[in-house]
Amino acid sequence: MARKIKATFARGARRVTGSNFLFEIGEGEDLVRILVDCGLTQGERFCELTNSEPFSYNPKDIDAVFFTHAHADHIGLFPRLVKEGFKGKAYATQPTKELMPIMLEDSVQLIAAEAKKCNDEPPYDTTDVERAVRMVEAIPYEKSVTVANGVVATLYNAGHILGSAIVALDIDGRRIVLTGDLGRRPAALVPDHEFPKDTEILITESVYGNRVHGSLEESTEALLDAVRGSVSRNGTLLIPAFSLERTQIILSILDSAIASGSIPEIPVFMDSPLAAKVTEVYRRHPDFLREEVRARVAQGDDPFSFPSLRMTVSPSESRAISGVSGAKIIIAGAGMSHGGRIRRHEAEYLPQKNTTMLLVGYQVPGSLGRRIMDGAKEVDIDGQKIKVRAKVLKVGGFSAHADRNDLVHFAEVVHPKRVFVVLGETEAATFLAQRISGFYDVDVDVPREGETYEL
Ligand SMILES: [Zn+2]
Repeated sequence: MARKIKATFARGARRVTGSNFLFEIGEGEDLVRILVDCGLTQGERFCELTNSEPFSYNPKDIDAVFFTHAHADHIGLFPRLVKEGFKGKAYATQPTKELMPIMLEDSVQLIAAEAKKCNDEPPYDTTDVERAVRMVEAIPYEKSVTVANGVVATLYNAGHILGSAIVALDIDGRRIVLTGDLGRRPAALVPDHEFPKDTEILITESVYGNRVHGSLEESTEALLDAVRGSVSRNGTLLIPAFSLERTQIILSILDSAIASGSIPEIPVFMDSPLAAKVTEVYRRHPDFLREEVRARVAQGDDPFSFPSLRMTVSPSESRAISGVSGAKIIIAGAGMSHGGRIRRHEAEYLPQKNTTMLLVGYQVPGSLGRRIMDGAKEVDIDGQKIKVRAKVLKVGGFSAHADRNDLVHFAEVVHPKRVFVVLGETEAATFLAQRISGFYDVDVDVPREGETYEL
């Protein structure tokens, strides 16, 4: 007999970050509880956010957690889950498992600093991170894991970042598919995402549920034009970039363009110790990259390196960048300028007219990156008033996320009977929900955080 299945959208509903979904299967003593993701909620107003709020379930009761990928908003609260008694199984792909300690060591510092600002206790520390990452078991794509009798989970390539996964839960012959963050087709570095078959219930992301990206080719051309412009104006090209995937996409494009002579070879600083560690994981797993990139590797090219690239790790190396005159490129985190080394470079270079700032990723409302993107003439950076005289450009084509068309296409191909739209701001999620229900005769809901649905 088919058991009762309940889905609770604990976090990450009507919100891009904080991915955390609970599935309860059956009743009473045989109840099976599965989590998909356990992510940080991110944004500028940390104190109002929810990372220290109690989980809506008891971590001790969870049988298994599956991670879609290693972005902090999908894994960043796992150490707290462990600290609060989680003793179940934890699964992820091999690259996700390797990226997790790197990403979590970074978020532990970030959340400790934020908690201090809010006079709050940090939700976890490095000991919890160490315990958490030891619990994760790597599983390959498309190899099923049995969680309990009649409850099986399978990961499929999500085409979003290295090792990213779609999670399919097969329960008593019914299939629930969670996209996690879904990549676009074609993706830049990783193979294009799969379309899991026989999906009955689809839980889809909607970060760009109401937008269409420019093409990768257009954005590549815009990046190379910005490089040429900085050369002719003898200025700095600032690129705030997420350390995981976006930075590697940009490095790989610069590597190809320099090799083919389509841009001059100017100093490029990758000013992010985090991105340096992440790039090492990419180098270890060419098998998780798309065929074109694997072919470059097979010919002896390192797609993430070229002679004029400097990876600046120590703070003194980072500070020394400002002494380098002439045209140069600085790639640094954080991608939304809410922390990290990019802020110091912004304070220095935004007032200069020959600076170009290239925004290559999503900018959450309230973040410094969003204010600059929206055309602020003056911004506050760590207590200093900074004039923005730089040219600000935005390209959408390096996004590692599916856009509205990709998401509708995904829903069309997997053809579920029921859809829940999550992981997007309300406007984007609602728009996508209307699109999907307008195209196909299917029940679509946009749940709120904390809501439970019987499936
Ligand atoms: Zn992601």
